[in-house]
Amino acid sequence: MSLLTPAVTGGPALAQERRLVTEIPGPRSRELAERQRAAVARGVSTTMPVFAAAAGGGVVVDVDGNSLIDLGSGIAVTTVGNSAPKVVEAVTAQVASFTHTCFMITPYEGYVAVAERLNALTPGDHEKRTALFNSGAEAVENAVKIARAYTKKNAVVAFDHAYHGRTNLTMALTAKNQPYKSGFGPFAPEVYRAPLSYPFRDGLSGAEAAKHTISVIEKQVGAENLAALVIEPIQGEGGFIVPAEGFLPALVEWARANNVVFIADEVQSGIARTGTWYASEHEGIVPDLVTTAKGVAGGLPLSAVTGRAEIMDAAHAGGLGGTYGGNPLATAAALATLETIESDGLLDRARAVGEILMTRLGALQQGDPRVGDVRGRGAMVAVELVDPATKDPDAALAKNVAAAAHAAGVIVLTCGTYGNVLRFLPPLSISDELLAEGLDVLVHAFEETR
Ligand SMILES: *Cc1c(COP(=O)(O)O)cnc(C)c1O
Repeated sequence: MSLLTPAVTGGPALAQERRLVTEIPGPRSRELAERQRAAVARGVSTTMPVFAAAAGGGVVVDVDGNSLIDLGSGIAVTTVGNSAPKVVEAVTAQVASFTHTCFMITPYEGYVAVAERLNALTPGDHEKRTALFNSGAEAVENAVKIARAYTKKNAVVAFDHAYHGRTNLTMALTAKNQPYKSGFGPFAPEVYRAPLSYPFRDGLSGAEAAKHTISVIEKQVGAENLAALVIEPIQGEGGFIVPAEGFLPALVEWARANNVVFIADEVQSGIARTGTWYASEHEGIVPDLVTTAKGVAGGLPLSAVTGRAEIMDAAHAGGLGGTYGGNPLATAAALATLETIESDGLLDRARAVGEILMTRLGALQQGDPRVGDVRGRGAMVAVELVDPATKDPDAALAKNVAAAAHAAGVIVLTCGTYGNVLRFLPPLSISDELLAEGLDVLVHAFEETR
């Protein structure tokens, strides 16, 4: 059998089991990794040493026939599962009718339908508009363009530990130097950084943290120069930091009073991941603009900016767009994804998955003082690993536990400014049994890693 021929087909028909039939990585994956080294730029590195052949439900099957439990969803993308049946059906039908016309040339209904859905699903019942793009970074860039066009101001504030992407402007917005920014400057100007509420490390209430943050912004930037605040309601790459209660509402209130556009970057936290359509809902905030991407289209590339009609429409005709933005295959996938979330009750499922994660990881923390913090909402949960005596970040432990889990057939991702956070983002199509087994492997990895 050729290396390119999947041993099995994807989708929910895959056996839902952890199965190791070779060492990890197996011989076929090692062969492909050799080809990767010779053909693919070194800058594009990979977490797992195995190559995928099929995926669905809660597993990824590799080219050697190993079946791995997926606790990462390809970074919060396959929320409805890999090759989810409705997505496969919708994309298959679309690919047979037309693949591309460019919405800016000959528009099509799918684009408009996704805009209508996102206008309805994002927080707030005011009049909204949506524009579609390809990646999360592109959505964030466009949200900033729109905020500048609306306010006629330039400055943008991003936060400590933020991650907004890898393009020039979004690198500037992103906080972490390695690996995202180092050597890639100069970065876009007029981007300023403000402190984030980080309850585990700053010990401040939401109100105290907001007061400090607003003071920094007023002193160092000035509302009269500030077009937008860009913030993840729950940070993704930065370590799944959930701000203290009251922090986000205070910032929204300040932004609104000062003609500053409040942009919620929900690229990772949005679309059912946290048990609500958007993480902003947990604190009842209504952002002016919301960016959506990762989980919205079942694995096809699609992103969006959605927000107040008067802000969105501030950009002149022809000022927004792109060749592929809102591609017909991606919009078909998005409509099927949103429908699957509703028909399969995945908001509830995200909360149930979250309870399983929180209970198990909370028990782990009770018995292991290296687990400093367990946090998150819904199926977006993380543990922050520390030196028990000093609370100093322990990145080596996170790396070693992840490596042990990988070797045992469980896909788990690390994150955090200090690299000391393990994050859990299982597909919501995973079974309780498989999730429990994945957590068993993880707990065992902690016991093994001393
Ligand atoms: C992943 C991510 C992005 C960037 O999305 P890409 O599709 O990789 O460009 C932006 N913001 C947040 C919060 C993300 O998690």
